Amino acid sequence: MAKTTQNFSAEIKELLDLMIHSLYSHKEIFLRELISNASDAIDKAKFQSLTQADLLPTGHDFHIRLEPNAEARTLIISDNGIGMSSEEVVEFIGTIARSGTKRFAKINEAIKTSPELIGQFGVGFYSSFMVAEKVVVHTQKAGTDTGTLWESTGDGSYSMDQVPRPEGMGTSVILTLKTFAKEEDVKDFTDPWVLKSLVKKYSDFISHPIKMKGSEKPEDETLNSQKALWLKPAVEVTQDEYKDFYQHLTNDWNDILKTIHYKAEGTMEFSSVLFIPSKKPWNYNYKESTWGLSLYVKRVFIMGDCQDLLPSYLRFVKGMVDSSDLSLNVSREILQKDRQVTQIRKNITNKIFSSLKDLLQNDRVQFENFWSEFGPTLKEGIPTDSTQKDKLQDLLLFHSTQSDRMTTLEEYVSRMPAEQKDIYFITGDDLSQLNQSPYLEKLKEKNFEVLLLVDHIDEWVTQGLLEFKDKKLVSVAKAGLDLDTSEEKASKDDERKMLTEKYSSLIEKFKKTLEADVKDVLISDRLTSTPVCLVTDENDPSAQMQKIISQMGKGEGGGKIKRILEINPKHPLFEKTLSASEEQQGEWAELLYAQALLNEGSQLPNPAKFSRQVADLMIRSMS
Ligand code: ADP
Repeated sequence: MAKTTQNFSAEIKELLDLMIHSLYSHKEIFLRELISNASDAIDKAKFQSLTQADLLPTGHDFHIRLEPNAEARTLIISDNGIGMSSEEVVEFIGTIARSGTKRFAKINEAIKTSPELIGQFGVGFYSSFMVAEKVVVHTQKAGTDTGTLWESTGDGSYSMDQVPRPEGMGTSVILTLKTFAKEEDVKDFTDPWVLKSLVKKYSDFISHPIKMKGSEKPEDETLNSQKALWLKPAVEVTQDEYKDFYQHLTNDWNDILKTIHYKAEGTMEFSSVLFIPSKKPWNYNYKESTWGLSLYVKRVFIMGDCQDLLPSYLRFVKGMVDSSDLSLNVSREILQKDRQVTQIRKNITNKIFSSLKDLLQNDRVQFENFWSEFGPTLKEGIPTDSTQKDKLQDLLLFHSTQSDRMTTLEEYVSRMPAEQKDIYFITGDDLSQLNQSPYLEKLKEKNFEVLLLVDHIDEWVTQGLLEFKDKKLVSVAKAGLDLDTSEEKASKDDERKMLTEKYSSLIEKFKKTLEADVKDVLISDRLTSTPVCLVTDENDPSAQMQKIISQMGKGEGGGKIKRILEINPKHPLFEKTLSASEEQQGEWAELLYAQALLNEGSQLPNPAKFSRQVADLMIRSMS
């Protein structure tokens, strides 16, 4: 293959432009990014060599090397890891395959405000152009004897040529450094002291040696301590060390909310460092965002994003596990079935639960912060993992009618008046709307607290939870809501009979008119000031659930589930309706049904008709 020149994709051009012309701070992070890439490349080669004995030349000792040259103004960062084929160079370095064009605008925006985030977006390599006017990559894939020489000045194109790499497998990144004006205050990246301190700052725990020719002596110096942080006793690790390690694992520069560092001993031995982040990463809810823990076996990195070590409702947890029991030859397929892995996962899950419980009990403010970021994710565990329900239910927080702060179920139960039997909840989209809901009228009067559930997932949570401490969870929007004591019921019985009789013909008329929409019309016991409301039959899905299902596009063809219209016999309207003509009663039935829909936050099937009817009514009331 002769030397060729190719253009960067439009996205990369934009990114390069940003690197070269707009980023002034944090230039030093290029070194962390390139060392991190080199370390990953060694991890990959080491892992592949476990199953492919002839991959490495004899006596191959893995290392990363820094070679500064002050006279030539160059810095070389090299590794003897897996290397890249020429196709891989094009794929990994010439395009932004993984990010996609749409996402890209967002990435560019984010980097502009916080350049230190660059590693997070899988474009760390390009940070070299913040400090270099020319970047040369010389790489050779392990197990091959052709190398690729890639070169660019960041001006929109790059050249590629096939040239064997003298050192064999691995990658060298050769930076020709820019000259910066004094007032730009950029460090001299050919100064060994500068490099040493940067390695200490960002890359000390990298598990492969980072070497450099000694500044005073001719022998190699190793710049990083390579301490496996997870093997140290937790008391000996500083917060800064945890933070660096967290950044290395996740590329996330947000603060850590909670660190869990522990060693399991006994039947199963492993060390683990787990982090609960303080904030959602930028791409948390995107489909392609990855999750899972890094897995090491006897200090050898095996794989990142190992999902078998965590249940998916704990996917916000980052970190690593180092097992001494697993075989070095584990593959993703084996992991799924491995009993030890299941054990580790169980153990880790319990540990996370107890940490969260501890946070809830001892630092409520932090727990509430955690909850606002990851609560909806954690809640997924209720309907999906019945084995952990007992522990999970203690961690749930809910909005409620009784307090501005969120409440636990435990706290709710402790506030229940003696005559209250069940735990009440209502689901919907909007807190203030729920708080005003007519369904709450009688409960408020009785001073019964109601949980206000506004997350989509809550519909499933209530179906999975069913009860807490022998108290049933009851929707206030379902038929048969039973709020009265037996004495209250007895005293109301006669009144009820009387009302049912009094309104029987009106009820019949309403039923007939609304036949297509409701399955029954009943005298309500839950309303005090609102004339009507719609309730769901006990075994039917709630209105909110039906709304969610139809939003997901799965409601079509399923047939409409009719509900029950409850009328408030104490509302003066009904007394008046009794004496109206049959035709008018029919019209009012329609209007009241529409009101009931509006009250619960549903949409009217025919808003134009509703407006017309209201206008007619206004005209009639004036004449
Ligand atoms: P990231 O490292 O976040 O994936 P980069 O832009 O830094 O993003 O690198 C893109 C890809 O190029 C890497 O995922 C890796 O496959 C490849 N790569 C980068 N540096 C090296 C290296 N030193 N050795 C082998 N492959 C590398």
